[in-house]
Amino acid sequence: MRDNYTCQYCGTKFHAKQLTLDHVVPASHNGPKNWTNVVSACRDCNQRKANRTPRTANMPLLTEPRAPSWLPTLELEISADHVPPDWAPYLRLKTG
Ligand SMILES: [Zn+2]
Repeated sequence: MRDNYTCQYCGTKFHAKQLTLDHVVPASHNGPKNWTNVVSACRDCNQRKANRTPRTANMPLLTEPRAPSWLPTLELEISADHVPPDWAPYLRLKTG
């Protein structure tokens, strides 16, 4: 939602299900899992960038990732069991 469903590398708009979470600085390079190190990327760009930083991959980001001033208020109709583990830090999960 923050990235308007747009791949932050090629600028193409996708359906949410076609997008992946890309770590700007890869986790294997000690990149943190937070708003400023995670962007929406399409599968092609994510694969092309692979385990590199935008600089070494020569794939600059279209916009600087920031924490949104709002938080999504969607009522997600999925249980905590089905939330992809990567999403958990960005959601306030309802329990029970
Ligand atoms: Zn892309």
